[in-house]
Amino acid sequence: RRGKAPSQKTQDGGGVAKAVKVRGAREHNLKNIDVDIPRDALVVFTGVSGSGKSSLAFGTLYAEAQRRYFESVAPYARRLMDQVGVPEVDAIEGLPPAVALQQQRGSPTTRSSVGSVTTLSNSLRLLYSRAGHYPPGQPHLAAEAFSPNTPAGACPRCHGLGRVYEVTERSMVPDDTLTIRDRAVAAWPPAWHGQNLRDILVTLGYDVDRPWRELPQKDRDWILFTEEQPTVPVYAGFTPAETRQALKRKETPSYMGTFTSARRYVLQTFATTESASIKKRVSRYLLSTECPVCEGKRLRREALSVTFAGLDIGELSRLPLGRVAEVLRPTAEGTAPGLEKWRREHPEKALVAERFTQDLLGRIKVLTGLGLGYLSLERSTPTLSPGELQRLRLATQIRSQLFGVVYVLDEPSAGLHPADTQALLAALAQLKGAGNSLFVVEHEVDVIREADWIVDVGPAAGEQGGHVLYSGPPEGLEAVEASQTRRYLLGHGKVARRTPRAPKGWLCLEGVSRNNLHNLDVRFPLGVFTSVTGISGSGKSSLVSQVLVELVSKHLGHELAPEEDEGEELERTPTLTSGGRITEGMEGVTRLVRVDQKPIGRTPRSNLATYTGLFDSVRKLFAATKAARARRYDAGRFSFNVPKGRCETCEGEGFVSVELIFLPDVFAPCPTCHGARYNAKTLEIQYKDKNIAEVLGMTVDGAYAFFKDEPHLTRSLGVLREVGLGYLRLGQPATELSGGEAQRIKLATELQRVQRGNTLYVLDEPTTGLHPADVEKLLVQLNGLVDQGNTIILVEHDMRVVSQSDWVIDVGPGAGDEGGRVVAAGTPEEVSQLAKSRTAPFLKHFLS
Ligand code: ADP
Ligand code: ADP
Ligand code: ZN
Ligand code: ZN
Repeated sequence: RRGKAPSQKTQDGGGVAKAVKVRGAREHNLKNIDVDIPRDALVVFTGVSGSGKSSLAFGTLYAEAQRRYFESVAPYARRLMDQVGVPEVDAIEGLPPAVALQQQRGSPTTRSSVGSVTTLSNSLRLLYSRAGHYPPGQPHLAAEAFSPNTPAGACPRCHGLGRVYEVTERSMVPDDTLTIRDRAVAAWPPAWHGQNLRDILVTLGYDVDRPWRELPQKDRDWILFTEEQPTVPVYAGFTPAETRQALKRKETPSYMGTFTSARRYVLQTFATTESASIKKRVSRYLLSTECPVCEGKRLRREALSVTFAGLDIGELSRLPLGRVAEVLRPTAEGTAPGLEKWRREHPEKALVAERFTQDLLGRIKVLTGLGLGYLSLERSTPTLSPGELQRLRLATQIRSQLFGVVYVLDEPSAGLHPADTQALLAALAQLKGAGNSLFVVEHEVDVIREADWIVDVGPAAGEQGGHVLYSGPPEGLEAVEASQTRRYLLGHGKVARRTPRAPKGWLCLEGVSRNNLHNLDVRFPLGVFTSVTGISGSGKSSLVSQVLVELVSKHLGHELAPEEDEGEELERTPTLTSGGRITEGMEGVTRLVRVDQKPIGRTPRSNLATYTGLFDSVRKLFAATKAARARRYDAGRFSFNVPKGRCETCEGEGFVSVELIFLPDVFAPCPTCHGARYNAKTLEIQYKDKNIAEVLGMTVDGAYAFFKDEPHLTRSLGVLREVGLGYLRLGQPATELSGGEAQRIKLATELQRVQRGNTLYVLDEPTTGLHPADVEKLLVQLNGLVDQGNTIILVEHDMRVVSQSDWVIDVGPGAGDEGGRVVAAGTPEEVSQLAKSRTAPFLKHFLS
């Protein structure tokens, strides 16, 4: 076993020399617990989902450390902290300062990149500024001239975005068999304004009744692209022949109309409209292309003329980190050709180059060690998975050389293939070795096994949890019968063998190109349960969550549900040059459902009850009470989103936000309704002695008992319990839910629908955040869907799940450029036999 912390022997705290002593913790569901946790050790918090691990690690320990920090930097924060609420705990002794590396809940909104999060880009800019190769005669540039986010650095054509927005005939005329009268020019505005433009074309003598593609190119170009804006008489409602007559006779027109080409309309509207929906509409006709001036490198030409090892900074930022290391290594190790000469002629520059490359190399090594060597510096963080982002932050911490700190981490193994778990453990060991404590919430058995100390919380979720079942070295867990974790940790790891189902057909994709996938052919079996595996960065998400989902939705004729912040999205993510088509099998798919970990809403206004639709039924029940009818309160009165019934101080949010300079905003309970969200009149109405706010405060389990006479409520609530969410409160704001919880809510919403079969379900790592015991529950549900005639495709790392699927597609063999191919496809048994698959050995472990 690696590095045991020396001082922990007993679990009663008596023998723990350097310990964090928690007394009387009551945050969320914690049951007034006392626990001693060793410092300078890897401590793993385990337990079923909802048992209270995060409430202890984040809600109590980290929150308290943060509170103390606030107090020390800003005495006035004490008053605010009192309003916000301090963690419910009597005392914590021996708590060092803490750094939380939590999984991002929801997508990060800042415009950052791998280079900025890791600060590697800063160092690279200094390297180029001070030690870059400048063309003869060019003066030296300051470091900020190498940043696209400063006026000194940004390319003047694209303003540092790297892309310019354009339109083409194809983008604006998606169907060229249509006539102008039938709206061939789809990019034009709808309704009257579009009619006006078509009438103008009639006046100008264009043929609006011939299919677009039969019009002369010259006419098409003018209509779409001209900068001219002629103003001409319009005869509304006239046929082309009547218009010609009217023009000849110089009749008085209906009005004078001004022409605008489609391009002009689209670009101008996109740049100036304040309406998000109009902006979204026109953006559909825009193509973004690489900026021709900077070739997408976002920088001024002066900056791009400076090179290091033959590459400009934009080129270097596009390489995978692993390759960047190879470029820098010769200089760092002093073996670069010409370095000798450099040392003689510009000793200070050579020294800077060596120092900076050594530092960069050391930092990149940590990243590649964590399995992130396939990322490039310019990759934007919103395109990273939460697990990748957390590991980036972790790597940055390793180099920060802090010591005496507690790092609190949330499932760092998320998104990691078992082959990469060793690297993660090594990184954690490194932080610990530097004199830090690690408090990790984790479900992955391979990580739990490496712990110096385990705090197992349980026995079940929510009200049935919140006790410390065990606190001590891993071996001792064996004796704790109430622990669910014990079963998986000590169990042989084997699962029941099952015979894979036979596919009912195949969904065949050809010529798939996206990110690191190049012209790939792949087929997915229908009517069965498929797991797509491969190491992080091998291309699983590109294949499944991107290409497969897009192609199937296109085939089904529905556009992908747009992202809420699509306007911004457009600037970030280049239009994907994707290739690929479905050649077979769509007759077996009539519906597509993605069950992902994206939040079910971005505001505290959405919650489990509103998302699943069960709140509608609850509101109707309240509106149907005698008291409500006497006051003529309808169901809308019981919504906290509309003015009638909600508290107006907080507009139904239940809390108000307090802005702190230099610190993130904090939220304080609403002084009027104290968090109830409703006004006093609304709260007077009771259903079975509970008001609407009290119902929102119930857990799913509680509500299931409370509404036992309401069949469609018990149906929805029952499904939520089956996916293991019985512990959630109905009104728990969407912003407080973990990705895994959001995903299970989506799944439950699906399960409560009437099943017709032929639905394709796509899930991305559904086991994230789930204890192995919860994973089993999830599998029962997913198998149920398959038995009803549906298809399930998952991206998955949990070999317990993979071994129980009907079919496995292993992508790889490596990450980035070294991946992107189908290494193996077959039943779990077949794939586990293939020597070239990196997944095989781990899979075999569960099958033999
Ligand atoms: P775990 O980390 O073990 O999955 P949590 O600590 O997140 O469990 O949750 C324990 C209990 O506390 C659950 O019943 C959960 O619904 C509840 N809970 C979690 N976050 C909050 C919160 N912000 N407010 C109120 N209750 C919460
Ligand atoms: P996996 O899902 O197997 O972890 P991905 O499909 O996310 O792998 O990534 C495969 C490759 O494609 C990696 O090299 C990754 O950096 C790259 N990639 C993935 N998404 C994007 C994106 N949005 N923009 C640019 N590159 C991407
Ligand atoms: Zn540019
Ligand atoms: Zn209020």
